[in-house]
Amino acid sequence: MNDLRELYQEVILDHSKNPRNFREMADANRSAEGHNPLCGDRVTVFLHMDGDKIQDVSFKGNGCAISTASSSMLTEMLKGKTQKDALEIFHTFHHLVTGQDEEANAVDLGKLGIFEGVKEFPLRVKCATLGWHTLVAALENKHEVVKTE
Ligand code: ZN
Repeated sequence: MNDLRELYQEVILDHSKNPRNFREMADANRSAEGHNPLCGDRVTVFLHMDGDKIQDVSFKGNGCAISTASSSMLTEMLKGKTQKDALEIFHTFHHLVTGQDEEANAVDLGKLGIFEGVKEFPLRVKCATLGWHTLVAALENKHEVVKTE
């Protein structure tokens, strides 16, 4: 458990200081905005879809270390995936951070597994999932701002 906690802090720190795919996307064909009023996190997710495939994904925003790191890791994980794969990963991740039993067909979350510890902190769950909810809104082409409340 201590190892996991250390790894968690290391990865969160790395991704929050050095977020991957942190940019606006000029040729995005989908985007959505999210806001977590409890913490003040704001994020915009940009997608370039090629049919059903996520050709490119990036994000911009201002938020705490957890929301930034989570969005950063999301973009790394989802590039090249299909919409269906992305939604499966989202559902598995959501179950992990809310402490629900993993589904039998849960996908391998790889590095995202470090977020498991977040389930002890309900307020942090909103930070960790903001980017994901926003991503889903972008995939579904929703235009209203996503709120975690
Ligand atoms: Zn936050």
